[in-house]
Amino acid sequence: MSDRDGLIWFDGEMVDWREAKTHVLTHTLHYGMGVFEGVRAYEAEQGTSIFRLEAHTDRLFNSAKIMNMPMPFSKEEINEAQRAAVRENNLKSAYIRPMVFYGSEGMGLRADNLKTHIIVAAWEWGAYMGEENLQRGIKIATSSFTRHHVNVTMTKAKSNGAYMNSMLALQEAISHGCDEALLLDTEGYVSEGSGENFFMVKDGVLYTPELTAALDGITRKTIIQMAKEEGFEVREKRITRDEVYIADEAFFTGTAAEVTPIRELDNRQIGSGSRGPVTELLQTKYFDVVHGRSAKHMDWLTPVA
Ligand code: PMP
Repeated sequence: MSDRDGLIWFDGEMVDWREAKTHVLTHTLHYGMGVFEGVRAYEAEQGTSIFRLEAHTDRLFNSAKIMNMPMPFSKEEINEAQRAAVRENNLKSAYIRPMVFYGSEGMGLRADNLKTHIIVAAWEWGAYMGEENLQRGIKIATSSFTRHHVNVTMTKAKSNGAYMNSMLALQEAISHGCDEALLLDTEGYVSEGSGENFFMVKDGVLYTPELTAALDGITRKTIIQMAKEEGFEVREKRITRDEVYIADEAFFTGTAAEVTPIRELDNRQIGSGSRGPVTELLQTKYFDVVHGRSAKHMDWLTPVA
């Protein structure tokens, strides 16, 4: 990732991609205290546009507040940095990564005398789970790793350290021949994927876990709103793994994963074993919205030019 042409926004300036470096004593590298976002820009009818930029920036600032990290830039500056990272790298579509971290000004858990630094990088990144899986659906397994608890790392912040849990779960799932993990919360109820929120469909109703252990996903919010606009009932409730086994359809949502159908959980086929009709409808609508083909939600798109 580091050896390529381009520019990265770093503490208010555009720096050469290869020179966007930090010291080995960078505090966040040692203790994992940092927050970040994953944002996408799409080639839209009116030019390349960032999807739900303000919502992502709001979550970044909320994550920093939860982790008690002072933010040295305003929301407007971080919004502009994201637009610039896409524009100045001449990207038509992009995955955008803002990340907030403590520098190498000091060491130790007190985290005093530290400065907060921010980078925004952007690069081209296609379908997270592969183009064919957007249609075919993925095979997942219930993880032996439990999702974070609200009183351990908290779950509203998208924090760097939280992703140790995600990586362990994903690596385990892959080693078992699956594409993704389904993590349960400390009570044993369905929480989310390693980097996605979970939905299932049963008898025409959409269900998604309540936001206790799961991240408050922006794609989740988008899909809930769009499903309601399509006339579906959406219920947020506790879901058990065996409810998922007998669901008609299931899918993951996320900025990276977009709307990815789930065809199998723990070697049990979900519904017809391929992308279900409700999933297909919402996936199609989602891609229409992000590409600016839906007049209804143009306010979710921020052009980079
Ligand atoms: N849960 C986790 C753990 C994630 O990392 C992500 C990706 N940010 C999501 C859910 C989905 O969130 P969003 O739709 O905002 O990308």
